[in-house]
Amino acid sequence: MNIEVVKTFIQFTSYLNLSNHFKMIVKLNLFAIVVLIFTSCNSNQKNKNENMKDTFEVNKSEEDWKKQLSAEQYSVLREKGTERPFTGKFEEHYEPGIYTCAGCGNELFQSATKFDAGCGWPSFYEALDKSKVKEITDYSHGMKRTEIVCAKCGGHLGHVFDDGPKPTGLRYCINSVSLDFKKKDSSSLKK
Ligand code: FE
Repeated sequence: MNIEVVKTFIQFTSYLNLSNHFKMIVKLNLFAIVVLIFTSCNSNQKNKNENMKDTFEVNKSEEDWKKQLSAEQYSVLREKGTERPFTGKFEEHYEPGIYTCAGCGNELFQSATKFDAGCGWPSFYEALDKSKVKEITDYSHGMKRTEIVCAKCGGHLGHVFDDGPKPTGLRYCINSVSLDFKKKDSSSLKK
C-alpha cells in the first residue's frame, strides 16, 4: 500500500468546502477506492507470476537468471530486448548443427533450415519441432507481431513472420544472443 497516495487524497479533500460529515464520507470513499486499486494490481501481478510458473518447465528467479546470463543475454532473453541488426555471432553462420536456447539448452533450430533473409538476424524457416517454441501475440511498439519464446524456459528468442521461403513460408527471426550452437555432422541431423 502506498501511504503517500492515501495522504495526498486526504489532504486534497481538506481543501474542499464541505461539511465535516461530507468530508468524512468523501475521505472514506477515496480510501476504499485506493485500497481496491492496489488490491487489484497486486492480484493481477500474482496471477501473472503464477501463470508463468505453470507454463514453463525451467523456472528460475530473476536473481538466478542474472547470475547465469551475460547482461546482453539477460536483456534479450528475460526482458525481451533486441540485439542490433548485423551484429550477432550467428547472423552469417552456416555450419551444420543444432541451435539451442542460451538460457536452458533446449534444442530449437537446425542448420538445414537456416537461410539468409538479409534482415540482420539469424533466420530459420521452421523450428526443430513445433513443441520446442511457443508463440505469443505481441502488441508492443504499435504493431501486432508473433513473438517466439523457448517452450522450456520462456526465454525471448525473436519473432516469426509469414514472409519466409518454401516449404513453410515462415521466417523465424531470432536474436543470436538467445542462441548457443552444437556442431554436428550433417548426416546425423534430422532431415
Ligand atoms: Fe530455454
